[in-house]
Amino acid sequence: MGKIHELNNVLANQIAAGEVIERPASIIKELVENSLDAHSKRIDIVVTKAGLGELRVIDDGDGIATEDVKEAFKRHATSKISTRQDLFRVQTMGFRGEALPSIASVADVVMTTATGGASGTMIHFHGGELKDFQAAPARRGTDVKVSELFFNTPARLKYLKSPQTELSRMVDIINRLALANPDVAISFTHDGREMFRSAGNGNVQQVIAAIYGVKVGRKMLAIHGADPDFTVDGLVSLPELTRASGQYMTITINHRYVRNYQLTKAIIEGYGSKLMVGRYPVVVVNIDLDPLLVDVNVHPAKREVRLSKEQQLATLISTTIQQKIAQQNLIPDVGERA
Ligand code: ADP
Ligand code: MG
Repeated sequence: MGKIHELNNVLANQIAAGEVIERPASIIKELVENSLDAHSKRIDIVVTKAGLGELRVIDDGDGIATEDVKEAFKRHATSKISTRQDLFRVQTMGFRGEALPSIASVADVVMTTATGGASGTMIHFHGGELKDFQAAPARRGTDVKVSELFFNTPARLKYLKSPQTELSRMVDIINRLALANPDVAISFTHDGREMFRSAGNGNVQQVIAAIYGVKVGRKMLAIHGADPDFTVDGLVSLPELTRASGQYMTITINHRYVRNYQLTKAIIEGYGSKLMVGRYPVVVVNIDLDPLLVDVNVHPAKREVRLSKEQQLATLISTTIQQKIAQQNLIPDVGERA
């Protein structure tokens, strides 16, 4: 017998979880992205104790057929891509097939799901072990309950920050998901208190108002710019409305929230001297592009992406914002004074 052997499944999944599931907020991100991929119109997020109690995501999406439910919890099992070509034109939030097995390997997970057929399915995992699998109510959609997070990976549990910090990371990711998906009604309840709710009517300005306050919502300008490769749409704050931190800028690519230094810089450059040093605007922009121009498979959590023609896009963003703000200066500000 040689010394080298394949890792068992649970162990392999726990290792994968190290990359995808860092903290309670990662679970929310992965579960809500799954709900979005399943064409949900409504997603309710219910959390207790900043995620150390229970994390629950309930959607009204496609659901999973009984024969697929166990598959969904296998590593690299996905319904979203199948060929190499698909990988280059990913349209969904997920495609790696890692989230469910990763979560199930480091927590207690109960999923109830139904496609709208005669019956639904319930499946229960504890630390990667299948505990239960049976018929459940036929209500269309999926309900995933995660508890005892990191009970079997003590180092990971210890690494978590204070409940306030974990909660604020969760709020941040929920805000971004809601801003990126204004046509989906998203709610967030923490310890029995509703923290946030979006209407799901497609109005980004209303989502901004729900998150950052009605006053901020009123001080936004709509932008639109396009070139042969990219279309940029969004809302940017009037130069008078700024924040001391850059975290109020949300960039989405084909409605996927991303972090990208060059594009963030392009937004700030669009404001030019209108922005004081150390001040940042409130911005929500979506960039529509051919999926061939973006590689989302750079980072397991898909937060960072690699863009072709990044400089061209940066220029489009900054000129679009610059022009809008220059135009705005020509309109006398009578409304505000009256
Ligand atoms: P991925 O999203 O990368 O495909 P996941 O492990 O997150 O991998 O999910 C595995 C599969 O389970 C998905 O491809 C999808 O078919 C199914 N699934 C997961 N969550 C949901 C959901 N909320 N509604 C419908 N199907 C789901
Ligand atoms: Mg997924």
